[in-house]
Amino acid sequence: MHLVLFGPPGAGKGTQGTVLAEKRGLTKISTGDILRDAARAGTELGLKARKFMDAGELVPDSVILGLVREVIEDSGNSGFIMDGFPRTIPQAEGVDQMLREMKKVIDAVVVLDVPNEALVQRLSGRRSCPNCGAVYNVYYDKPKQDEKCDRCGSELVQRADDKRDTVARRLDVYKQQTSPIIDYYQQHGADVHFINGDRGIDDVLRDILQIVDR
Ligand code: AMP
Repeated sequence: MHLVLFGPPGAGKGTQGTVLAEKRGLTKISTGDILRDAARAGTELGLKARKFMDAGELVPDSVILGLVREVIEDSGNSGFIMDGFPRTIPQAEGVDQMLREMKKVIDAVVVLDVPNEALVQRLSGRRSCPNCGAVYNVYYDKPKQDEKCDRCGSELVQRADDKRDTVARRLDVYKQQTSPIIDYYQQHGADVHFINGDRGIDDVLRDILQIVDR
């Protein structure tokens, strides 16, 4: 199974992708995670990418395509889930070309639909624990003690790109540069499914599994 999990920032692609990868033994390819790891490690690529990320802009296509090629090649014969990639038409064309060379195809594209107001609340309220990875939301899933992790007591952090102004920019970039990919896939005969992502994690997961397990 080669699946594209598609949708705006905050739609739940990362959350669903992680569970799906674990449940079905697939490799999750998250360009956002790869870039954040590189930024944390302070590599040249990571430092260059961080400037774009913190501003809510997209990292250049050439950088992203190089990264993804490596991960797809490393994934061998296990299937994959792409989360947060492709994000532009040139990236969608680039990955199609790469997959053709590897004699692989995208089996399904799942679009998670979530209204804009919910996305703003999800993203700008998100806080995470740098120590154990627990994720909270200050609007509807608060930690018991303000800004401290319930599990390990560490001080919670906010992603630089989850600040309100940057969230607005990211949603705008999605609308302008990323959402046209849905048309691209439909015109190229891909199996595109729309799922209501404005529900609990388990309900959304059940619908995605129906597509993955067909
Ligand atoms: P994400 O965690 O998927 O929301 O990605 C966080 C940030 O990483 C984005 O706002 C972009 O700056 C950058 N990024 C992640 N994936 C891509 C991609 N496929 N193309 C360009 N930039 C990306």
